[in-house]
Amino acid sequence: MGQWWGVLAGALLIAAWINKAAGPAVVIALSAVVLLWCAFQAPVTCGAPVRGREGGCRNNASGLLLGCHIRQHRWQKLKMLIVRRQVRAFCSGLFSDGKATIVTLAGIGSFASGLVALVPGLVIH
Ligand SMILES: [Zn+2]
Repeated sequence: MGQWWGVLAGALLIAAWINKAAGPAVVIALSAVVLLWCAFQAPVTCGAPVRGREGGCRNNASGLLLGCHIRQHRWQKLKMLIVRRQVRAFCSGLFSDGKATIVTLAGIGSFASGLVALVPGLVIH
């Protein structure tokens, strides 16, 4: 459960949005924390391609952008983002299971939240 602290930060972020007293600085800080958690800390499945295994590596990875402890897997997903024809495979991996979907949605939400907080004009009053 300790690895899921990002979800707690996400809940705080939502609370900061509801409670206007928190102010944009708090929202931006929490958004950045949640986004970093999703990218580099969240406990998702590695999913790096493994010969002869459907769905790839099942080890726990650190975040959506990093792989598991196996050296060849560590930067696998970042490489997929750089190689154009593998971007689609990377994107499908973002929704490969329940955990990945939660983390991906949290990442998108925190990114949007940070953007809106940074650019006040984006919010239509
Ligand atoms: Zn792996």
